Amino acid sequence: MTYLSDSCIVNKRYLLSKGEKHYTKERKLDNILRSTTLTAAALVNQYIQPGCTVVDATCGNGNDTLMLAKSTAKHVYAFDIQPAAIQSTKALLSEHNIPKEKVTLICDNHTNMTAYLSAARVIMFNLGYLPGSDKSLTTKKYNTINAVNSALSILEKDGLCCIVMYDGHEQGAEEKSALLEMSKNLDSSIYHVAYISMINQQNHPPEILAITKKK
Ligand code: SAM
Repeated sequence: MTYLSDSCIVNKRYLLSKGEKHYTKERKLDNILRSTTLTAAALVNQYIQPGCTVVDATCGNGNDTLMLAKSTAKHVYAFDIQPAAIQSTKALLSEHNIPKEKVTLICDNHTNMTAYLSAARVIMFNLGYLPGSDKSLTTKKYNTINAVNSALSILEKDGLCCIVMYDGHEQGAEEKSALLEMSKNLDSSIYHVAYISMINQQNHPPEILAITKKK
């Protein structure tokens, strides 16, 4: 998986024009719209500030947790209800030599996140089920709405709650509808809400709900 930080490679090139020496920076741009994962990572990286606290509310196999752990955030809290997901995430972090003290792994329902921390700059949800595992252990509408409300209650001013949604399965479609309904009614004096959908792509690509807090 490629994240934005891997893609910002700057090449330097000197050009000669009209007898003068011009210096240009040629930036190799990665197309962040080619995958929702890249779009979400780009958004999240935009909001992370050095020393901040961030949350992966659904760590699964640990890819998002790893991306957060490699950022300038000071600490990552990562939740999952499945012990196997916590183990996979732990193994991935260790494989990448992430210091143990940088990430707190929590095997609990993400609706309980306020019991573990009181403020966060970025909170990510990657909804659905873990590919290749029990599909009944998917995120579910009512629980997710409660969890996102919990997340918003501890989101810092100028912070981001980034939710990746999948409507390719029945529960995912219900969950997405409920999230859109809930978020479009969020107080506009406090939140900005954006909905990102790859509208010309096939097979229900994931979509993003991004919520930022003004105050
Ligand atoms: N972010 C992960 C990654 O990078 O590999 C993928 C996440 S996967 C699509 C969704 C995860 O949400 C699953 O691992 C599942 O166990 C977890 N999950 C489902 N319901 C949950 C809940 N109520 N609280 C916390 N995690 C939950």
